[in-house]
Formats: sequence, structure tokens, C-alpha cells
Amino acid sequence: MSTVAESQVESIVKPGKVSIYQPDQEGLIFPEMPTFKTAAEHRQYLKEHLVAACRAFALQGFDYGFAGHLTVRDPENPGLYWTNPMAVHFAQVKVSNLICADHTGTVVEGEYAINRAGFVLHAAVHEQHPDIVAMCHAHTVYGTAFAALGKPLAPISQDAAAFFEDHVVIGDEAGRVAVEVKGGNKVANAFAGAKAAIHQNHGLLTASRHSIDSAAFWFIALERCCQQQLMIEATGATPKEVAPDRARYSREHVGSDYIGWLHFQTIWNDLIATQPDMLD
Ligand SMILES: [Zn+2]
Repeated sequence: MSTVAESQVESIVKPGKVSIYQPDQEGLIFPEMPTFKTAAEHRQYLKEHLVAACRAFALQGFDYGFAGHLTVRDPENPGLYWTNPMAVHFAQVKVSNLICADHTGTVVEGEYAINRAGFVLHAAVHEQHPDIVAMCHAHTVYGTAFAALGKPLAPISQDAAAFFEDHVVIGDEAGRVAVEVKGGNKVANAFAGAKAAIHQNHGLLTASRHSIDSAAFWFIALERCCQQQLMIEATGATPKEVAPDRARYSREHVGSDYIGWLHFQTIWNDLIATQPDMLD
């Protein structure tokens, strides 16, 4: 019996091409990444999608007071990052209250303060990895619970296989508020060649080399995978795992940044229809 839906992914082209899931469907509606004539246009797009990611986190119940932060690298000034304002609920984030900060956590645009303790983690990752354009972090119920185990996710489903050998567990400096640069550097090191991290006794982090859409979707997916593994382990039964070669195959085909972006477009379209004030 095939654990992974190989037939489903046979038609998928390799990451980097845009026509995934799209062969022989020319002329039909399919999400496409827009192109931009100016940096200002690009920035506006990134800010709108950053807000959508925050609103999606609110819908998922990922809020915990002022904890949690999402960042997007500015398209024109790569040393600057757009992020959600301090002490504003994810559901209340909108384009006009976003803030922009440099890697030291100094706000250079916007009216609100920044969550400096949290931002330092993101800044360290962004600085060490110029290719990482977006990051997400929140103190979620299942992700934080799973993080206490100090172990990686098992490839117990096709969805979980998307993270196979593509996430790390950060055990050191665990449970401390990450205000020190040293702590930020340890997190940054973890993101070499990975899209997600489980910070022991703290919570989940995701990063994307593609888009905030992708970072946000993979965060939602990671939280779900943590929930599912905890549920299975609570039964006391030992789950069947996807074999390593099949888990790698799944990850390559359904775990890419582009696939994360594509998944997120369903959320974007729903939010545009139901929460148009996010663009204010
Ligand atoms: Zn945190």
C-alpha cells in the first residue's frame, strides 16, 4: 500500500516552475504571483499579505496577548522589515498600523512600538540568511505543547512529511525570553536549509525564501501537525510512519515555498471577501 499519494503528485512539476497542478488547464482561473513595476507596488503587496497572515493567525486562535510576530523584508531596503505593531491583536492589524524596523529593532516607520524581545529573533534570522524574506512566530497551544517534548515531528502523514528533514528542534537556551542576541543567533543557525523550527519550551517558528504567504501557511500547517501527533501519541498507539524516501519525495513535491504560497491564496481570497478593512 502506498502511504503517499504518489499518483497525485506525479503531475507536479519541480519546485521553481509556476505551472504546478496546472497542466492542461490553460485559460482557467489559477492563482498567480503578480509582477510589480515599482518597489512601491511590491511593498504594498507585501504589506497587504502580511496583514492577511496576521488576520489568518487570529482566525486560527494563534493570539496570546502581545506575543507573536510576523515579518517581511522590505523589497527595496533589505535591511528593513515590516512587522505587526506591539500589543495590537492579530485581528486588528491593518495596512495602516504596520511598522517598519531595522535589524536592531528600531522603528523607522509607523506609529506603534515594536515587540523588541520577539523581533530580535527574527532580525537575527533575517540578517544571517539574506534569502529569507519572511518569518512567523506565535505562542500556539499545540506547537508550544509539542515543543516541550524537545523532539522533531514524525512523518506520520503526507502533511507532516512536508516538514521531513526540513525543520529543526532548538533545545538550547530554551524557555528564556529571547532578548539576548546570543539566543537569536542560535535560532538563526537553525534556519540553515530549513523552513521551520521547534523552539523547545517556547513555540514554533517558520521562515520563507519566497513570501509571507508561504511562511504563514507553513506555520498553520506545522501547528496542525503538532496537534495531530499529540492526538495520536495520546492514544498510546504507535503510528505508522511514512518511509524516509517517500517522506522526502512528499516534501520535495508538496512541501515547497511555492506550495505554501499556493495554499495561502485560499485564505487570502476568503479574507479579502470577509475582512476588507484589513486593507485600510
Ligand atoms: Zn515567543
